[in-house]
Amino acid sequence: MARHLITSALPYINGIKHLGNLVGSQLPADLFARYQRGRGNEVMFICATDEHGTPAELAAAKAGQEVAAYCAELHDKQAEIAKGFGLSFDHFGRSSSAQNKELTQHFAGVLADKGLIREVSENQMYSHADGRYLPDRYIEGTCPNCGFDSARGDQCDNCTKQLDPVDLINPYSTISGSTDLEMRATKHLYLCQSQMKDQLNDWIDSKADWPVLTTSIAKKWLNDGDGLQDRGITRDLDWGVPVKRGDQDWDGMEGKVFYVWFDAPIEYIACAQEWVEAGKGSDWERWWRTDKGAEDVTYTQFMGKDNVPFHTLSFPSTILGSGEPWKLVDYIKSFNYLNYDGGQFSTSRGRGVFQDQALEILPADYWRWWLLSHAPESSDSEFTWENFQQSVNKDLADVLGNFVSRITKFCRSKFTEAVPEGGAFGEQEQALIADLTTKVRAYEGFMEDKEVRKAAQELRAIWVAGNEYLQAAAPWSTFKTDPEQAAAQVRLGLNLIRLYAVLSAPFIPFASAKMLTAMGTEDDSWPGDVAEALNALPAGHGFTVPEVLFAKITDDQREEWQGKFSGTRD
Ligand SMILES: [Zn+2]
Repeated sequence: MARHLITSALPYINGIKHLGNLVGSQLPADLFARYQRGRGNEVMFICATDEHGTPAELAAAKAGQEVAAYCAELHDKQAEIAKGFGLSFDHFGRSSSAQNKELTQHFAGVLADKGLIREVSENQMYSHADGRYLPDRYIEGTCPNCGFDSARGDQCDNCTKQLDPVDLINPYSTISGSTDLEMRATKHLYLCQSQMKDQLNDWIDSKADWPVLTTSIAKKWLNDGDGLQDRGITRDLDWGVPVKRGDQDWDGMEGKVFYVWFDAPIEYIACAQEWVEAGKGSDWERWWRTDKGAEDVTYTQFMGKDNVPFHTLSFPSTILGSGEPWKLVDYIKSFNYLNYDGGQFSTSRGRGVFQDQALEILPADYWRWWLLSHAPESSDSEFTWENFQQSVNKDLADVLGNFVSRITKFCRSKFTEAVPEGGAFGEQEQALIADLTTKVRAYEGFMEDKEVRKAAQELRAIWVAGNEYLQAAAPWSTFKTDPEQAAAQVRLGLNLIRLYAVLSAPFIPFASAKMLTAMGTEDDSWPGDVAEALNALPAGHGFTVPEVLFAKITDDQREEWQGKFSGTRD
């Protein structure tokens, strides 16, 4: 039995995420986790909310809440939505956990001992009225470029010019509105990624099987311009992991926290510790420590392309730099962006369909199928309501749903609600079994390779093959002349429903469960031998005709949703 450690990039805490976030990391990770479990392998699938940093503080302030309370509430909301989409995490943790705090401080201490952290003195805006240093986003003023009067310290939203807080005319604190600001010297810690450059380069070069999207982004950061730069790992903020060197205070770093990019990926490990604390398992180290049982683990990460630099360079710098036997990632699957109806999905601007809204209008499987079968792998892809309607109606309702409905209803009307006996599989059936065997093996190959779109196409082809068989065999005609032969055809058809439920579960787990229930079986074993799998339900085995599996999306519904989601959300 193989062992798979699977992580999805951590969704940030500041609000409900849109569908683009789902297809860029969590959903394909879930697909892979469900597939590996289906194959009988041991899986540890983890994800968590990424909770520290300025945007969390700002979102909490906007909501009029304490940041800790805000994060707790949003974590629960995101967990509920994840459940709604059937995301089968073994644990959904929080980067603000005590475990992550301790582990982050541990890594910082070890990296400092190895000479991989240096102190840098820099100037930063200090607000007397607020009694604190202000991150760039907490300072606004007039843009020196276009005159816009609420340009942020890092960028002008009006003319998009990148700014430094010192560039702003009449700068003020967005917390208190105070203009009593001064530039002061402050000390920060930097991770010496530049020292790791050659080691990282060799490591990336050894990953010939990684997607080009992943390696090309990593190479760009490694080699463009002056090459990989050291990176600040601390901030003057209240909300975060306090800067410590292991369990010791760090001289001159009082009141500072680690930068969110440093502590967030460490949560992948801490989350496994939270999993133990939650009583779901007893040994996290056999997943994460190569000296304690993790040497045979295959570790796969899923993420959007914006997260690739952190996962190919920064987090590996932490892991490799520590010199400790932590499990390093084996494969990084990255995705391009999903666009929405001619523009971008945007959380900050409230554009597109958000995850909670999606679940309010349609069951999760509709979204799962469309998103995965249109995953932005080789390039960006686009969500349009027309395409969504067409794909759902054709693939799910016409092909799969119709097959299930037709064969169960026919059997009920001409035989009984039990698998009919009599007859034998002939040439037509053997041809179908041979065809399905080829297709199932191809499907497995695409799933192993994390080729999401190709796997979806192959699964659809498997559904289509059953429909074409049914059309050609036409048991409703056969029945009139040769009821025994019709019985064998129907028996095959009913067994195909079980087979489809098993193969489709990674994509559409809810419909798959309904299909198994209707077939009166809990046998979800993977079809090692297709011929054998098509005899799993013997003659006389009872079933029920299921409710409609997938209702078609009407033109009226499509138009209504098009209108409803054309604007922006608050
Ligand atoms: Zn401007």
